[in-house]
Amino acid sequence: MIPAKFFNGKTSKSREAEVMILGSYLVIRELETKNEVNVELTKLDIGHQADFVVLCDADIEIHIGKDDFKKLGLKLGFFGKDQKPIIQGVMIALGILMLLYYFYNPLMGHLASIIPDSIFESTSKQLIEHYRPLHCLNNQQAKSLEDVFSRLGKNYSGHKVFVIKSSMVNAFVMPGNLIVIHDELLKVAPSPEAVAGIISHELAHIEGKHVKIALIKHYFMETISAFIMDQNVATGIIKQITTGLFTQEEERKADLIAATNLKDQHISPKGMVSFFEQLEKNEPSFLKFLSFTHPNYPDRIKVFSGVYDSYPVLSESAWKTLKAGCQ
Ligand SMILES: [Zn+2]
Repeated sequence: MIPAKFFNGKTSKSREAEVMILGSYLVIRELETKNEVNVELTKLDIGHQADFVVLCDADIEIHIGKDDFKKLGLKLGFFGKDQKPIIQGVMIALGILMLLYYFYNPLMGHLASIIPDSIFESTSKQLIEHYRPLHCLNNQQAKSLEDVFSRLGKNYSGHKVFVIKSSMVNAFVMPGNLIVIHDELLKVAPSPEAVAGIISHELAHIEGKHVKIALIKHYFMETISAFIMDQNVATGIIKQITTGLFTQEEERKADLIAATNLKDQHISPKGMVSFFEQLEKNEPSFLKFLSFTHPNYPDRIKVFSGVYDSYPVLSESAWKTLKAGCQ
């Protein structure tokens, strides 16, 4: 037993006592009365004075000399007082994270199927109003683009397709069946088959509800993060992560669906293969490192390596006109 001074909270006078650790309890025995008090170690606060250490909870206080305290062998955890609730909290948080990890994607898919499209109506409207004036194809080019859709067996007028002037090779989808194609993509695409493949990939994102899922994730993460982080910082980060970005899994699915679509419609997949080869050659290496959301080009090329009978998507002259992009 270790000698200590014991304050029971009833009088300011200390009593001589002995203390020892028994399991997860501190046992205090008053020398005079032989009374024993047990206190759970996790409930004790610890304070260091010049030549003694104070252990206390709401009711009692114990003073132990510095050297005696060392002999007591009390090891307070990293979290100090009340480490149990904190550890429990950490365990619960880990559990939730594990659950989210396993069920996040199915959960989001399910949410996407029960949440009506109409809740994104105002967002879609805003986006369409933003892109409509930027659309820069002439009627002849628009007709060719419509032909690409019908060659794919897809409904052009059921989508909002806008080609905008931009020097970046890009195409993306947004809520409201909105497809935006940068005219640079038309300019560098090696063939109308490549354009058809890209459009088919983007349509797969729409049909697979990937846009909706991305939006739901966006709102979901924003709501969660509002509780745990400074909102401005959080929205900035979350926007970076979720806006318009699909998971690798979704990208792979979209490629597979596009490859099947091309095959069903007898459109040569070689267009996609040479487009990917061309893009891979021109992509700066830092972008290769950064573009973690898309599967790498060799893997994508494999998906489009089927061989089957095909016939052209557009006539040579129609392709030449479309390829000119925005004037
Ligand atoms: Zn994609």
